[in-house]
Amino acid sequence: MSIDTIQKLIRDVPDFPKPGILFKDITPVLQDADGLRAMVEIFVGRWRDMGIEKVVGIESRGFLIGAPVAVELGLGLGLVRKAGKLPFERIQRSYDLEYGSATLEAQVDLVRKGERVVVVDDLLATGGTARATVELVRELGGEVVECGFLIELGFLPGRQVLDDMGVPVFAPIAF
Ligand code: AMP
Repeated sequence: MSIDTIQKLIRDVPDFPKPGILFKDITPVLQDADGLRAMVEIFVGRWRDMGIEKVVGIESRGFLIGAPVAVELGLGLGLVRKAGKLPFERIQRSYDLEYGSATLEAQVDLVRKGERVVVVDDLLATGGTARATVELVRELGGEVVECGFLIELGFLPGRQVLDDMGVPVFAPIAF
């Protein structure tokens, strides 16, 4: 399946979760056997030969991409979650997102010092979520080799935010 075909499966839902937001719904991609496999293979192909040591997924759709990608790469999956979900000793970052604000947390054993990780989520918008995640990984001593998103909203500054942090962005689909 081509990237174009995956793109056609992404559903636009206007005014969700707030008026004025055009929500990019990836559930039709996940529910399509070929779409799901193709989505995973895009990331696996990208990261297979980059010396990556761990995949870090951002709650919650980043988990759905990160877990199968990690399995295919023969790597483990680290979780960055919304505040209050992780049980062990943890650090946190608050940040603004396209709609509202939030706090993300990572457990202190998320990464080893110097570990080469990729961060994955479904969509890059303002970049606040990804920036907070990169800060968490870096605070714990990890090296973010790249951030990957199925979708990038090119009219928002997410790519610039990550570029300013020295983090490359991989996003096969842009709107
Ligand atoms: P941001 O921090 O602004 O880059 O927002 C990224 C996070 O919010 C990701 O976890 C996305 O899943 C979610 N998100 C933001 N905007 C949208 C949108 N228009 N459609 C779907 N998800 C979105």
